[in-house]
Amino acid sequence: MLPEAKQAAREAMELSGNPSSIHAHGRRVRDLLDVAREALADRLRCAFAEVVFTSGATESANHALLGLALAHQHGKRRRILASAIEHPCVLQLAPVLQQLGFRLETVPVSRDGVCDPEAWAERLSDDVLAAAIQHANNEVGTIQPVREVAELARGVGAAVFVDAVQTMFEAWTVDDLGADLVALSGHKIGGPAGVGALYVRAGTRLNALIRGGSQERERRGGTENVPGIAGFGAAVRVLLRNAGGLREARAAARDAFLRRLATVLPGPWTPTVPLDGVLSGHAHLLFPGVDAERLLIAMDLLGVSASAGSACSAGSIDPSPVLLAMGLDPETARSGVRFTFGWSSTPEEAEWAADRVAEAHRRVAGSRRG
Ligand code: PLP
Repeated sequence: MLPEAKQAAREAMELSGNPSSIHAHGRRVRDLLDVAREALADRLRCAFAEVVFTSGATESANHALLGLALAHQHGKRRRILASAIEHPCVLQLAPVLQQLGFRLETVPVSRDGVCDPEAWAERLSDDVLAAAIQHANNEVGTIQPVREVAELARGVGAAVFVDAVQTMFEAWTVDDLGADLVALSGHKIGGPAGVGALYVRAGTRLNALIRGGSQERERRGGTENVPGIAGFGAAVRVLLRNAGGLREARAAARDAFLRRLATVLPGPWTPTVPLDGVLSGHAHLLFPGVDAERLLIAMDLLGVSASAGSACSAGSIDPSPVLLAMGLDPETARSGVRFTFGWSSTPEEAEWAADRVAEAHRRVAGSRRG
């Protein structure tokens, strides 16, 4: 976590009072929520009232797509389109949407993990309720042509939901994206885990999912996670001042890692997608002939933490659905490892990690799934 975020969360924990209470203690806590909401509104360039705090991007995506479905249950639009490499917080809504009478259809991506606006254009029509497209993929780091897809979707009157969890370090506004709904997460930007936000463009018809209180302008019932929100807001303020610096720090660590890996482990790996267009802190690599899970275990024993598949579902042994959706065969997909570098990673640490990866690779080279 960013020191500023820790500090803000700690200070919030010192306050007692419910932000919905009108007494002085309550009002002091309410002020913290307002400060955090203001930070989000500044970052997204949206109105204060368009920011809804949630427990994280998973809830935000559920709220966006299920909330749209509930609000349009009696309408003619019954299809929801999503890119085939969306996070499970979108793709796993399919059965619930089906129960509500909607069909979630996936739109294919290229071998390089990028959406093709043409493929969206072919599927978009006036029976589509929403288009869900992530701004950048959490596994391979590819940045998606969100604006083009959003324009196409708006052209047929569909709402646009963007999962922008991975791109808070990049420069964009909700209008740049053309989004009606945007999901964000605290722990991807040096804020606390368990807190996030949903941007809801004014005028969007969206039902609340969590009921039982008038918090968040009736959009989400329940007493707010005040320390989490205060920490999230403080992290967003740091981004407003220095997103470029944090982005460059991640890129410097990633590039140092790749340079060193090319020296200490020349040959037996390739980038899964071209690395020039991906998120600054991402490097997804294929190690042909090696089982990624064994490599991860060997790396872990040497002190290096990375993941195969989405980090959010680590522990699963299936090949990554993202890599399969990109057209990789299961054997190749099982050889993929995602390395990510944070704002606090240094080039020296990254070089140290590359040495350990090379050592781990020597230990498991040639091993296959048993
Ligand atoms: N969307 C993307 C692209 C992610 O990387 C993640 C995971 O962190 C999520 C959604 C889920 O976010 P959260 O952990 O805040 O629920």
